[in-house]
Amino acid sequence: MKVYNSLTRRNEELSPLVGNEIRLYTCGPTVYNFAHIGNFRAYTFEDILRRAIEFNGMTVKQVMNLTDVDDKTIRGANAAKVALRDYTQTYKDAFFEDLKKLNIEPAEVYPAATDHIPEMIALIEKLVEQGIAYKSDDGSVYFSVRKFPGYGKLAHIDFDHQQTGARCAADEYDKENVGDFALWKAWEESDGPVGWDSPWGRGRPGWHIECSAMSMKYLGQTFDLHTGGIDNLFPHHENEIAQAEAATGREFVRTWMHCAHLRVNGEKMSKSAGNFFTLRDLLEKGWTGREIRYVLINAHYRSGLNFAFSALEDARKSLERIDRSVALATEGEAPGWAKKHLEDFAAAVNDDLNIPGAFAALFALVRDTNAHGGGAVLDIFRRMDKVLGVIFFGQSEKKSEDLPDEVKKLLDERAKARAGKNWAESDRIRNEIAALGYAVKDSKDGQTCTRK
Ligand code: AMP
Ligand code: ZN
Repeated sequence: MKVYNSLTRRNEELSPLVGNEIRLYTCGPTVYNFAHIGNFRAYTFEDILRRAIEFNGMTVKQVMNLTDVDDKTIRGANAAKVALRDYTQTYKDAFFEDLKKLNIEPAEVYPAATDHIPEMIALIEKLVEQGIAYKSDDGSVYFSVRKFPGYGKLAHIDFDHQQTGARCAADEYDKENVGDFALWKAWEESDGPVGWDSPWGRGRPGWHIECSAMSMKYLGQTFDLHTGGIDNLFPHHENEIAQAEAATGREFVRTWMHCAHLRVNGEKMSKSAGNFFTLRDLLEKGWTGREIRYVLINAHYRSGLNFAFSALEDARKSLERIDRSVALATEGEAPGWAKKHLEDFAAAVNDDLNIPGAFAALFALVRDTNAHGGGAVLDIFRRMDKVLGVIFFGQSEKKSEDLPDEVKKLLDERAKARAGKNWAESDRIRNEIAALGYAVKDSKDGQTCTRK
């Protein structure tokens, strides 16, 4: 399978560094609020990625961090006058519930930043020993970007390091404000009860060091794949590379992948812009997790996606179409035409996760299945759904299992009659089926049969 590597800016074959396992680090949520569906665009993209890797016969070890200490979580906890741990627990729980609603496969490890402070301190100590990091007057520790020659290689900017003696205490900043960034932040009044002792005094880790420390702990110094939304590329991922590679002297990550933003009226969906919907908002309005997932995955991950309710309506109709077709599908050796659609599906998935192309193959299967009045294509649907995760099989399996063989045979005959526009024969068979106690309904997608 080929994927676009943000580091080299090329499509490259994804193959494991070790054995058959892809080691994947996905930047996770900052648990200070409910995640919005923009965040879930990133998490569904990563879910599709992981499923695609598995579809190709490899295994995945995925680590997704939970950022449970940073400026935003501290501000929230202190404003609510609750302990940081209790404050973030609410949103951790909510996050895991939301992942289930969206049928996102769980990662292997969800390390929380606050459980890994010693690892972060050890990494910072290493950088200080090497003279790449230094302590400032207030007891914070900064990474000196001019001491790491590779700085800027991910963001593809040739920084003129001579100009950048400036320091930036904030976790997030623009390329124009590049400067030495904080690895450890000295305790301040506004931190309240939050803080850990360190060789540099009381304080807390910067956001970027969290991910370098936790990814290397669980995946090794060099691993296969690291992802996030495009906003993570700079400075977060650039800084992760600098911290890790300066400390180990080795390549940190082979392949970097970033998804484009979910937008609303052309603007990035974000908490700060106030233009966001949480998953919960949409569920309350009556949309299902499956419909929301469908909308989020049904655009190429590197293309912008504008959120609109009309897309949810279209998703509902498309999923109903798929359901009706799956209801006609049966077990058994798949016919050649269905196998061809699976090949097209795989080719699309393996072309840098071309999910719109994969859906085109799925709908070609839907059309042909309907035209044949069914067929032994259940396994093909299942294999496609290994990647997409939107098909609901429960109902269809029950339906086709429930139907007696005699009815199934008649349905097959009727489908053939209809395909040959032999309406009299079609009506005759419908009556025969009715006499057995079953009702047949026709739609443009084929026939569905239920007990009367
Ligand atoms: P945060 O909780 O802000 O650290 O974001 C968690 C993940 O969601 C990161 O991978 C972000 O890049 C991603 N993200 C945030 N906003 C959006 C958006 N509007 N569209 C796509 N991904 C986003
Ligand atoms: Zn991260």
